[in-house]
Amino acid sequence: MLLITALASVVMLFVLQSLIGSKISGVREWRAANILAIVSLILYALRGIAPDVLPVVVANTLLAAAVSVVLIGFCKFLHLRVPKRPLVIGLAIVASSMATFNYLWDSVTVRIVIVSIFHSAVCFAIAKTIPSPQNSTRSRYSYLFTKLTAALFGVGHAFRGLVYVLGIDVLISAQQSTLWNVLFLTIGVIVLPVLTLGATMMVHDRMMSEAENAANSDFLTGAWSRRAFFTFAAKEIERIHRSGNALSLLVLDVDHFKRINDEYGHAVGDQVLVDLTLRAETVIRNIDYFGRLGGEEFAVLLPDTSLEAAYTVAERLKAILDTHVPITENSSESVSYTVSIGVAHLQADETFSHLLQRADEALYKAKEAGRNTVIAAEA
Ligand code: GH3
Ligand code: MG
Ligand code: MG
Repeated sequence: MLLITALASVVMLFVLQSLIGSKISGVREWRAANILAIVSLILYALRGIAPDVLPVVVANTLLAAAVSVVLIGFCKFLHLRVPKRPLVIGLAIVASSMATFNYLWDSVTVRIVIVSIFHSAVCFAIAKTIPSPQNSTRSRYSYLFTKLTAALFGVGHAFRGLVYVLGIDVLISAQQSTLWNVLFLTIGVIVLPVLTLGATMMVHDRMMSEAENAANSDFLTGAWSRRAFFTFAAKEIERIHRSGNALSLLVLDVDHFKRINDEYGHAVGDQVLVDLTLRAETVIRNIDYFGRLGGEEFAVLLPDTSLEAAYTVAERLKAILDTHVPITENSSESVSYTVSIGVAHLQADETFSHLLQRADEALYKAKEAGRNTVIAAEA
């Protein structure tokens, strides 16, 4: 049993090693926890061979430290504060009582109860640390799996402690003791590999969503990429056609951007695009989509927004984007820029490409009207 669990931890070490390069917080802690567990299991196996201090005092303390480090890993992964004090105090109690109830008053029952309380508390703390996934993200399964198994292990350890406190004479009779021992040993040692498995799934989910975000974002500005914007727009429009709500689209383009590039260089042009995105995001709501269609052309999709309201948003955008950007961080020299905006409101049964075309035509008219202007498309 001990050997199998030690092997499971070794396998988990190899899995975790493949995630070290991901730079995701928590992986190093989980790796350390599995190493601690392996050492601890080797020491447990020395029972009867080595002096008690190794299989009793050190092994129990190391296994308690291992689950603690698993908890620390989850805190790091989720960017939460590590409960250092309770863990250190708990571990000190485990270590000292292992020694006390081995050398001063030898009682396996008391030792098991104390270790069970500690493991149960840490497992519940892990379950509590992992947030319940509310929105239907992909990571729902891995979070639920880890949270539930941690809670189950918490219950298992608590039950183990309770059995030894209350029913020691009835339940742990000579014939049954082996069965109970094997059951409890299983719970005790399977915790590490199972929680590591859950952690690994969570890391994979995070890596996937980070990769997805990177693929959907424009590298320079962080706005949604053209591809992502078109996907969101198609989905939103489908929803709007079903609900009969309003939807508007703004298309905006930097005026005389070529001149900015020619006069100040491409890097300053890039800076203008970044500045534009940051400013625009202060004006739009978080249900709106801000995307870079290409070059210096951007679009804003405004769900549940009438033409009049969209026009007002466009005017505010135009005003906030009629601005200066310092050429370097501390320089007094700055570059000024403006934008022209076309506004269009979704018609019944209209496709996104047709809506975009009408917004583009309005933008073209805004350019013709002298730039730094908002024009609404006709229906
Ligand atoms: P208008 O007012 O009519 O929109 O004139 P404009 O100069 O803004 O438009 P034009 O289409 O002539 O020029 C757009 C320029 O934008 C040309 C291109 O080199 C530049 N550009 C496109 N993408 C980028 C980019 O990512 N960074 C920078 N710095 N420039 C870019
Ligand atoms: Mg332009
Ligand atoms: Mg353009």
